[in-house]
Amino acid sequence: MKRVPLAILPTRLEKESRLSEHYGIELYIKHDETTEFVGSGNKIRKLEFLMAEALSMGATTVFTCGGVQSDHARATVYVCRKLGLKPVIFLRSTTGDELQGNFLLNTLMGSEIIRVTKEEYENIDEIFSCEKERRERRGERVYIIPEGGTNATGIWGYVKAVDELEEQTNLEEIEGIYCAVGSGGTALGLAIGLEVKNYRTRVFGVNVTKRPGTFYYNRMKDILKSLEEKGINLPHVLDRIHIMDEFSGPGYAIPTDDDLKIISEVASISGMILDPVYTAKAFRGMVESARKSRKYVFIHTGGTFGIFAFAKFFERR
Ligand SMILES: *Cc1c(COP(=O)(O)O)cnc(C)c1O
Repeated sequence: MKRVPLAILPTRLEKESRLSEHYGIELYIKHDETTEFVGSGNKIRKLEFLMAEALSMGATTVFTCGGVQSDHARATVYVCRKLGLKPVIFLRSTTGDELQGNFLLNTLMGSEIIRVTKEEYENIDEIFSCEKERRERRGERVYIIPEGGTNATGIWGYVKAVDELEEQTNLEEIEGIYCAVGSGGTALGLAIGLEVKNYRTRVFGVNVTKRPGTFYYNRMKDILKSLEEKGINLPHVLDRIHIMDEFSGPGYAIPTDDDLKIISEVASISGMILDPVYTAKAFRGMVESARKSRKYVFIHTGGTFGIFAFAKFFERR
């Protein structure tokens, strides 16, 4: 698998003693919120592989999509600027959206931003191919990155992250690895990495959307099938992935009071900043489901810039 170095790796794995004591589990944080500065978070690991593919096919332009505060879109715009490609992002957004957080950064980086409605977003693949055709007639060459960078190429970012974890701790002793699930690539990549190295560690993916867990298992199955076509056979990977649907609250990017509370709590105890869209829900899922006194790794997948768009939620408190 070809890879362009874009992230600052390895990220730290730290035992957080005060959080461990507070929540009654032995907690190690994998600090992937520090994979870069503007490119921070989990997506840049996937983009190292995706952009290698884009460059090797001679792309001039990169499409991707997400919510208005998408971390993935921001990281994609950043790596495009870094490599001299033209970013075009399709965001579920309305004219009333505040120029803040990731949306502000995308604007500063001069990305072309195409607003789509919720309904249009359901058919984003069609919109992508229509727009790709139009631009390729003008001589551009378009590389399409799906939502969250999750496909058979992007997942290698987290397959490789297991190499780092293996260097940093004894994975035999880790009961489970927790992460948020938005498009599912982080959880799947971790599970593949653990599977090929024969660790028994499970992956707990906390679903932060209203899509049912089965949606993610099906998507993962499709990706595994395309790996099979390339001769990579991993029949038991899904057995170790446990997707938890009960912490998504009212919906994607809508934090509950408990989510807001845990953000302030964790920040006050340790200085670590969780985000209201992904990591707060994942962290809460972990502290409410982990077995006491066992060892766990929490992947801090980022989301740091997005928090600024949620300031008003904290004012009210
Ligand atoms: C995208 C994202 C996730 C979800 O990762 P997936 O691989 O899409 O499931 C988790 N946390 C943050 C901060 C993200 O931006």
